[in-house]
Amino acid sequence: MRDRSEITSWLTDMDGVLVHENTPLPGAADLIRRWTETDTPFLVLTNNSIFTPRDLAARLRASGLNVPEDRIWTSALATADFCASQIPGGSAFVIGESGMTNALHEVGFILTETAPDYVVVGETRNYSFEAITRAIRLINAGSRFIATNPDATGPSADGVLPATGAVSALISKATGKEPYVVGKPNPMMFRSAMNRIGAHSESTAMIGDRMDTDIVAGIEAGLHTILVLTGIADQTEIERYPFRPDEILTGVHELLDS
Ligand SMILES: [Mg+2]
Repeated sequence: MRDRSEITSWLTDMDGVLVHENTPLPGAADLIRRWTETDTPFLVLTNNSIFTPRDLAARLRASGLNVPEDRIWTSALATADFCASQIPGGSAFVIGESGMTNALHEVGFILTETAPDYVVVGETRNYSFEAITRAIRLINAGSRFIATNPDATGPSADGVLPATGAVSALISKATGKEPYVVGKPNPMMFRSAMNRIGAHSESTAMIGDRMDTDIVAGIEAGLHTILVLTGIADQTEIERYPFRPDEILTGVHELLDS
């Protein structure tokens, strides 16, 4: 097993690791500052595909965490990266928001409602019956079905919100087709993140708060995995899984001691 001292590049989940409901978790600000000051390659990962990296950087800054926008890797960026690697200069019909549409524009994709290469479903609060209907018909006509992330619900102050997985399920039911899902727990998201910062799996760690996404995908991508207990997982939860992270820490503040 690898030692943490062999790690030169870092991937970290955002919610439950660095922030919780817009409040930075202990040690998060110092860890980001240390990585930034020492030019350590790192990326902050989120399955949320609503926001652009710039929007997310501004939100994090407002909550007291200075993460440069080029250090943020969303499932929307990973999805755009994947689509462009498969069909350079391709086209897509998108159900999603600026995080997704901007990402596709930046990789040279055209957004169209006419015979697109892909139908891409991302996180949205504004989808319409018309857009869902169009997506279904395009997929039936041969467009490839992609979703940014599998999450069925997302959190809000008032309770859960239906998320990408719920909207794509509606399209799956109507078409009989499942989407290819790029975000966590698909290790594809980590592979594209590592490519972005020139990192290699043997010397990269993944920090997360979920066994069923962050840790399993980290293991599958061949990374050193660190579970923190500031989010979803606790000791009882950890025991339920057939795999284990390389390290379990109470929070990212423990990484500052070494
Ligand atoms: Mg998390």
